[in-house]
Amino acid sequence: MPTLDTRLVSVFDEVVGRNPGEKEFHQAVREVLESLGPVITKHPEYADSEVIRRLCEPERQIIFRVPWVDDAGRTQLNRGFRVEFNSALGPFKGGLRFHPTVYLGIVKFLGFEQIFKNALTAMPIGGGKGGSDFDPKGRSDAEVMRFCQSFMTELYRHIGEYTDVPAGDIGVGGREIGYLFGQYKRITNRYESGVFTGKGITWGGSQVRTEATGYGTVFFVDEMLRSQSQSFDGKRVLISGSGNVAIYAVEKVHQLGGRVIACSDSSGYVVDEDGIDLELLKQVKSVERGRISEYADRRPRATFVAGGSIWDVPCDIALPCATQNELDEAAAGVLVRNGCRIVAEGANMPCTPGATRVFAEAGVLFAPGKAVNAGGVATSALEMQQNASRDSWSFDYTEERLGEIMRSIHDRCLDTAEEYGTPGNYVAGANIAGFTRVADAMLALGVI
Ligand code: GLU
Repeated sequence: MPTLDTRLVSVFDEVVGRNPGEKEFHQAVREVLESLGPVITKHPEYADSEVIRRLCEPERQIIFRVPWVDDAGRTQLNRGFRVEFNSALGPFKGGLRFHPTVYLGIVKFLGFEQIFKNALTAMPIGGGKGGSDFDPKGRSDAEVMRFCQSFMTELYRHIGEYTDVPAGDIGVGGREIGYLFGQYKRITNRYESGVFTGKGITWGGSQVRTEATGYGTVFFVDEMLRSQSQSFDGKRVLISGSGNVAIYAVEKVHQLGGRVIACSDSSGYVVDEDGIDLELLKQVKSVERGRISEYADRRPRATFVAGGSIWDVPCDIALPCATQNELDEAAAGVLVRNGCRIVAEGANMPCTPGATRVFAEAGVLFAPGKAVNAGGVATSALEMQQNASRDSWSFDYTEERLGEIMRSIHDRCLDTAEEYGTPGNYVAGANIAGFTRVADAMLALGVI
C-alpha cells in the first residue's frame, strides 16, 4: 500500500500550507508523491535540488473577471482561471473546463495531473489548465458566445503558440473552441492555428481529436488485456459519463468486440443489455444536449435508474469517464464483489484514494487517468504538429499514430514500474515515468 516517504512529508505539508482548502489539489499531489520514495533513494539529486518542491508550485496563476450579458439583457459575472503549471518540456498545454464546480483548487489539480500526463506522451508539451465557474447548461448559443468572447478578451494576452496552448475539457467542446479561437483571431489579427487545439477540421483542427480521449482510453485497456493474454471479446463494460470521452470509448469498445451495457450522466444511469446504441446516445447527448433518461425513453429494452450508482451493474471492466472522485470506496467494493477485474480512468482522478486502495487489495488491474486518458492531449500535440507544418493528415494515419502513442505509454508505465521494484503497478509506473522526464528537464534548464 503506498504511503508517503518520510523525506517527502515536509514537501506535502508545504503544499497544503500554501494552498489552503484546495482538497483536490492536495489529493493529486499526494498521489504522485506516494510513488516517489524509491525515486529519491535511487537519485538523490532530485531531493538535493528541491525539484519536487518546485514542481508543486505553478509557474504562474491567472485569475480574472468575466462579465457578460445574458439574453434577458442582465449582466452576469463569472471567474476565469489559467494555471500555467510547468513549461520545462514545452509550452503550457491543457484544456479549459467550464463547470459550476470550477475553482482554483480544481484547476490546480488538473494542471498538476497534466504535467505528468503530457510528459508520459513523450511529446514536447508542458502542463497547464484553465476554466471558469460558468455553466453552459441551459444557456443559448448566443449566451455561450458572449461568455467565450469575454473570457478570451482577458485570456488572449497570456496564451500563444509558443507560450500556452489551451484546448477543451468538460463543458468546452467544438462550439466553445470556435467562439474562443474566433475572438483570439479578432483581437490579435493573427490566424495563429497553433494557439488552440480541438479546432474544427476545416479551420485547422486534426482528424481524430474529437474521438482521441475515448479511443485512446480503450487502446490503453486493450494493451492491459493483452498483457494478461486476454481481449475485449465478449467483455461486459461500464462507462460512466456520456460526454465526449464516454461516447468515443463506447464506439471503440464495440469495434474491438466488447459490449458497453451502461452509461450515465449527472441525473442517473441507463442499462442496455443489448449494448449501448451509439447513434442514439450521440443524438440525445451531443446533438440535443438532453438527459440520459431520454435514451431509455426511445429504447424499449433499456432502463433508466434515477440517481443511483452505475457501479452497481455487474461487469468485467469499468471505465470511469465522467469526473473527479465519482467512484468511491463503497462503489469500488461493489465492483470487486461483482467480479470486475479491470478499472481504467478515462476521466481525470475519478477514483478516490479509498477506491484505489480497494482495487489494489483485491488484485484488480487499475490504471490511472494520467496514462489512460493521455490520448486526447497527445492528439492535441499531433494537431500542433500539423499546424506548424501547415499540413493535415488523414483519419487513418492519425488514428494509427494515436494507437502507437498509447501502446508506448502503456509499455513505459510497465517498464518503469518494473525498474523501480513495483512490477505491474500502473500508478507507480505512470507517476515515476512522468516525474523523471519533467524533473530531468528542469534540472537541465538551471534553477527554474
Ligand atoms: N482536457 C484534456 C485532458 O484532460 C485535453 C487537453 C488538451 O488537449 O490540451 O487531457
